[in-house]
Amino acid sequence: MLVDNHHRTINYLRLAVTDRCNLRCNYCMPSEGINFAKNDKLLTIEELSRLASILVAQGIDKIRITGGEPFVRKDLMVLLRRLVKLQGLHEISVTTNATLIGPHIQELKQLGIQNINVSLDAINRDTFERITRRDQYDTVHENMLRLITEGFNVRINFIALEGQNTQDILPMLELTKHFDVAVRFLEEMPFNGGSRSFDHIAWDYKRILSYIKETYPEYDQLESPSTSTSINYKIPGFKGTFGVIPSFSRTFCGTCNRLRVSATGDVITCLYGKPKMNIRDILRGENSEEKVREHIRSVIGSRARTGFEAQQENIGVFKSSMTSIGG
Ligand code: SAM
Repeated sequence: MLVDNHHRTINYLRLAVTDRCNLRCNYCMPSEGINFAKNDKLLTIEELSRLASILVAQGIDKIRITGGEPFVRKDLMVLLRRLVKLQGLHEISVTTNATLIGPHIQELKQLGIQNINVSLDAINRDTFERITRRDQYDTVHENMLRLITEGFNVRINFIALEGQNTQDILPMLELTKHFDVAVRFLEEMPFNGGSRSFDHIAWDYKRILSYIKETYPEYDQLESPSTSTSINYKIPGFKGTFGVIPSFSRTFCGTCNRLRVSATGDVITCLYGKPKMNIRDILRGENSEEKVREHIRSVIGSRARTGFEAQQENIGVFKSSMTSIGG
């Protein structure tokens, strides 16, 4: 079992498989992209599955595949086919922009990979194109509906962006009227690949909730697992649920159970801090299994207590884009 220096059990790995993305969401990356990693710096499928297997033996029982956009990696399904065979791994989930998932939906179903998070910040084509700088709305919308109707456990993640998409909050929420889907509204975080720094956001979770309350004054709070980052609700009579994720307010650090590994092997113990080490060369060297175990145990033994504490490592300026750190 992996337990950190604040007595939190770490059982959840967010594993990025690429830093590349086929969208250019304006709050995540500049339009020209970022300095993407060279191929030899990316963990291979063999390395990703070996790392996963070592960490599962150490107590990780949930892995979320992220990126960049995971499906731009052509060999992603090879990795997923291996992960489903890992004893002790109880849950595999994927976070995607849903542009490229279409051809893989049937196989994901066969593999039993049920949990798909779709990042979608608009339910209107123009808003979508302005934010993502790409003409992919129809594909994403169709894939999202397919995933829902095929019975996947779909969660839609929507970042509330001042001046960009807040007019879509209620129409997005209304999806839950007709579909068994969870729509989660997230606070924007200061990771955009540039050097923007801010210590306040226009749409925090309290404002999102009070905005929803103006139209839907009655909703019931649902019970959520103690390690959940979302606070979840249901509007009476609606099929699905909605939630808010205080990703900037960081109210959930006390129960954080997460470890992140970037596509290049950076080990990240808090989104708001700097990477603690790089595991790639260790994986490529001798006695890798034993050394990986030791290093992972060591970084988990010195985690920041909260995202605010970790943020001090960045002195208020975040140069990373979420596409490099996996979201
Ligand atoms: N391409 C995949 C996707 O779209 O879900 C996975 C990677 S993406 C970087 C992961 C998540 O990070 C997405 O939900 C995206 O909206 C979120 N994200 C990126 N930049 C963000 C920011 N500055 N603040 C909050 N969330 C952000």
